[in-house]
Amino acid sequence: MSNRAYNFNAGPAALPLEVLERAQAEFVDFRGTGMSIMEMSHRGAVYEAVHNEAASRLLKLLGSPSGYQVLFLQGGASTQFAMIPMNFLTAGKTAGYVKSGSWANKAIKEAKLIGETFIAASSEENKYMSVPDVGSLKLPDNAAYVHITSNETIEGTQFRKFPDTGSVPLIADMSSDILCRPFDLKQFGMVYAGAQKNLGPSGVTVVIAREELLRESPKHLPTMFRYDTHAENNSLYNTPPSFSVYMVNEVLKWIEEQGGLQGIEQKNEQKAGLLYEAIDASGGFYRGCVEQGSRSTMNVTFRLASEELEKLFVKESEQAGFVGLKGHRSVGGLRASIYNAVPYDSIKALVEFMDHFQKSHG
Ligand code: PMP
Repeated sequence: MSNRAYNFNAGPAALPLEVLERAQAEFVDFRGTGMSIMEMSHRGAVYEAVHNEAASRLLKLLGSPSGYQVLFLQGGASTQFAMIPMNFLTAGKTAGYVKSGSWANKAIKEAKLIGETFIAASSEENKYMSVPDVGSLKLPDNAAYVHITSNETIEGTQFRKFPDTGSVPLIADMSSDILCRPFDLKQFGMVYAGAQKNLGPSGVTVVIAREELLRESPKHLPTMFRYDTHAENNSLYNTPPSFSVYMVNEVLKWIEEQGGLQGIEQKNEQKAGLLYEAIDASGGFYRGCVEQGSRSTMNVTFRLASEELEKLFVKESEQAGFVGLKGHRSVGGLRASIYNAVPYDSIKALVEFMDHFQKSHG
C-alpha cells in the first residue's frame, strides 16, 4: 500500500500492515457472527476464545514456562506503576528500583506514595545516557521486589542483561521493548507492558506474572486494584478492552509468522544497525545520544549541531513523508522509534533522507 506513512511514532506506533488488513477484512462481520468483535458480549464463547488464544499465544512465544499467568488490564503501564507497590510493597518491606531514566522515575514516584523504596542502581550521574550497572546488586533482606525498565523510551537506552535478584522477584516494565527479542521469563516475577508499541493498539496492558505473586494482594485493597481479582477471573472480572485484546492476538500471530522472537530479533538488529551505522558514519553531523553498549534497538535518539538544525530536520522530514522524528519534549533532539512493526524499508528511506539532509545542510 503506497499511502502508508514512514511512521516513527513512539507510541501509539506503527502496526503491521498485514494485521490491519486482516482486522479490516473481519471488522464488520466477525467470523460469521453478523457483528464486529466490539459488539458482542465478553462473556460469549466467540470473544472468550480470542481472549484465551491471545494469552496462550503470548506464553507460547515465551517458551510456555509453567507457573505463569497472563492478565489483560486497563489503565496503561502507568497504572501498573501504582498497582505493583499496592499489591507487593506491604508493611515492613522495601522495594528496589533501578533508576534508568524518565519512565523508571515515574514508577519510583508512584511507589514512594505507597511505601518504602531504595535505589538499587542508577545512571542519573550519567544523565541516563547509559543503563545502570546491575551486575552486583546488594539487596536488603526485606526487599519485596526489584523493578527495572528494560527499555527507556525517551532516552533511548536498553538493557542487554538483567540482574540476578535471587529469591527477590524481578519486575520489569517492558512497555517499549516487549517481544523485540527472546528473553527468559523465568528470570522475572512479573513483566508488564502497555500494548501500544510492540503488541497492538492502546487500551490494554499486558501483565505476565508468576501465579503465586498474583495471589498475594493485601486484604484492604479495592477490588479492581488487586491482582488476585483479575487472576481469579481470567481478566474477565469486568468488561475487558475486547477489541484491543483481539488486535494483540493478531499481532502475536504476525510475530509467529516472522519466525517468532528469534526472527523478530534478527530483523530488529538489522534495522537498528542500519540506522546507528548511518549516524556513526556521518562524521559527527548526527550524534547518537546514548553510550554504545546501552543503545536501544527500539528508540534511536540522536542530535544535530544545534536546535535550529534539529527543527529544520523535523520540518523537512515531515515534508518528505516521515512522521514522529521529533524527540520527546522533555529531552529534545531527535528520536526514531523503530518497533517490531516498522518495516526495514522505512529505515532505509530514513537513512537516505538523512544523507540527503546532511549534503544540503552539512
Ligand atoms: N513505561 C514505558 C517504558 C513507556 O514507554 C510508557 C509509555 N510511553 C509507559 C511506561 C506509560 O505507558 P501508558 O501510557 O500505557 O501508561
